[in-house]
Amino acid sequence: LLLALIFACNSGSNSSSSSSESPYEEKIDSLLSIMTLEEKIGQMNQYNGFWEITGPTPQEGAAAMKYENLRKGLVGSMLNVTGVEEVRKVQKIAVEESRLGIPLIIGYDMIHGFQTMSPIPLAEAASWDMEAIRRSSEIGAREAAAAGINWTFAPMVDIGRDARWGRVMEGAGEDPYLGGQIAIARVKGYQGEDLSDPLTLAACVKHFAGYGFSESGRDYNSVDVGTSTLYNIILPPFKAALDAGARTFMNAFNDLNGIPATGNAFLQREILKEKWGFDGFVVSDWGSIAEMIPHGFAIDSAAAAAYAVTAGSDMDMESYIYLNELKKLVESGEVDEKLIDDAVRRILRIKYELGLFDDPYKYCNDEREKEIIGSEEHIQGVLEMAKKSIVLLKNEGQILPLKKEGMRIAVIGDLADDKDSPIGNWRAEAVSNSAVSVLEGLQNYPGNSYQYAKGADLIIGPTAFITEVKINTDDRSGFAEAKRVAANADVVLLVLGENGFQSGEARSRSNIGLPGLQQELMEEIQKVNPKSILVNMSGRPLDLSWADANIPAILQVWHLGSQSGNAISQVLFGDYNPSGKLPMSFPRSVGQLPIYYNQKSTGRPTPPGGDVVFWSHYSDISNDPLYPFGHGLSYSNFTYSGLKVSNEGRKVTVSVDVKNESERPGEEVVQLYIHDIVASVTRPNKELKAFEKTLIEAGQTRTITFELDESHLGFYDNQGNYIVEPGAFDIYVGGSSNTSLGTQISIQ
Ligand code: BGC
Repeated sequence: LLLALIFACNSGSNSSSSSSESPYEEKIDSLLSIMTLEEKIGQMNQYNGFWEITGPTPQEGAAAMKYENLRKGLVGSMLNVTGVEEVRKVQKIAVEESRLGIPLIIGYDMIHGFQTMSPIPLAEAASWDMEAIRRSSEIGAREAAAAGINWTFAPMVDIGRDARWGRVMEGAGEDPYLGGQIAIARVKGYQGEDLSDPLTLAACVKHFAGYGFSESGRDYNSVDVGTSTLYNIILPPFKAALDAGARTFMNAFNDLNGIPATGNAFLQREILKEKWGFDGFVVSDWGSIAEMIPHGFAIDSAAAAAYAVTAGSDMDMESYIYLNELKKLVESGEVDEKLIDDAVRRILRIKYELGLFDDPYKYCNDEREKEIIGSEEHIQGVLEMAKKSIVLLKNEGQILPLKKEGMRIAVIGDLADDKDSPIGNWRAEAVSNSAVSVLEGLQNYPGNSYQYAKGADLIIGPTAFITEVKINTDDRSGFAEAKRVAANADVVLLVLGENGFQSGEARSRSNIGLPGLQQELMEEIQKVNPKSILVNMSGRPLDLSWADANIPAILQVWHLGSQSGNAISQVLFGDYNPSGKLPMSFPRSVGQLPIYYNQKSTGRPTPPGGDVVFWSHYSDISNDPLYPFGHGLSYSNFTYSGLKVSNEGRKVTVSVDVKNESERPGEEVVQLYIHDIVASVTRPNKELKAFEKTLIEAGQTRTITFELDESHLGFYDNQGNYIVEPGAFDIYVGGSSNTSLGTQISIQ
């Protein structure tokens, strides 16, 4: 029998102020006591800005209605209002023309930069550099705050195991521990030390919960996951963000095991608010309260409102349903006014913490807006982040870095000349076509000659946020020129991948190969010049199996933001030694999805010997990913030795010597994984529990030491209790999740 140590799961140990400590409760009490029911419900209502994509009334009508409702005190928040002038305009109506003058909280999707763009979040995750991610989040927050915004709908902490889902670009990849550490870094970057500082934003952790597990990777699809996955994989990054002080949460479009997240009392009330003690507020996702009707959960708007408010959704983003339904529901006794009071209290609490009651215009400073947005310091900051986000996947024969002089370099691919795609999706106020392209970045190295041939258009016609990206599948008219250019070069850079709008929300793909004619183009070019390097620009892992087998070097460059081309060229020519590691496994085939390193063993893990087929495998490809989680090469070469593990009770010390065998300094991400060999709930073969990114000088050895305790050794049982069970654990250390350098310890 296993002795289980059960921790109080109800620790509620978040560092945010709990309601009893909040200095604002008396003020909130007195405000609540003078608010009418309509005014309270108004605080729970959030409107999109005055540009209309959707909405119940035609454009003009909707805008007029929103202005009118601002005056009546029927709006608590707005999103997508940007720029000091615009924000001031709406804030003025709320504060100076409504009866109680309660300021608005102004929300915005500042996901990876506001105008100066950082890499997409998945790319940043590849840096494994928490200080760099914190800083990048801070840069975005400063710019957004300077434009009048005080609340960002980020970080997105949904775990992504399925590259078909386009929103993996917004997250931190497949691992709950790395995801949790990144969530903490982002919350700190957005919120800073003090929420009332007008250069910080309130964070909004999303999407609570399970959205990343949309079945088949199809966006908005149902989510059906067991308790073990929910507690051990999906929820930990949310808890980490909360413990770091995140002040708001967003729920999700999906249903979770049959209950839409927006109407899910188990998630929002029981876990988030009661068990974890969260005293900020939850905003619905866009229209998600109304979506409970087509979900087949609520029969009408009134039922949707009742479900959502009862479940703990405090603010209605763009469904108009709270405003239209809640009053009647309270008056008829179907919804207790206490629920409304609780929601409004939470919303007002954050407005107080932001300091909006002291000065509703504190984010509206014209000089600051001019000075901060696009500053040189921010440009340098996103360049640093971009370099750290690049992952060298393959480098056969040390073809990289390239020489800076005397080379004839062919550059092939539509994306090489693209100044827009590197900005990626969720681009806030980035100016279109404002990124440094790969071709422009190469000009920093004028000692070589560059010949460019597109080969084939990637897309047909312009792309825009709300339209489907149309891919070129038949115009090969540029192939001949590309082949001619490639044949005359010393080396070929194939800059291929996804258009900036090919990943993101509603951008699911059933095939994750190189889109359009790019695969064919790559194969044709490789025939005329095998000395090719693939620079893969994508918002998600792609199937690069052919390239892996045929192209000597592959650089994963994601969508790197404003400074993309400068960062890429510094890596290509060795002025920056690549240090990124994959935050998500790259599959060999779409058929392997979902794929992730922290899989469990089956009862039939290995071939039984002889020609026997009855074990857990594919008969056509290997089970392994093409490139595993944690993989990433450097121009340096690191070797690991001297693994030592000791423990005193449940405190475990692990150390390892890492040597840089090369002649150049390099950074390595040293990763520690555990495997709880036998447990009352089966455990993954490997689980990341610690990592350290460290710079090692040429020829030097560094000893890296990790300390583990109960917070690393346990897991959540199927009732959601955190437990540590005694027994044997494998401890692995290495530069990737496929490391085999390991030893065993026993914990009592
Ligand atoms: C997305 C959210 C986003 C919201 C507001 C929704 O479609 O799911 O992540 O914050 O829109 O733009």
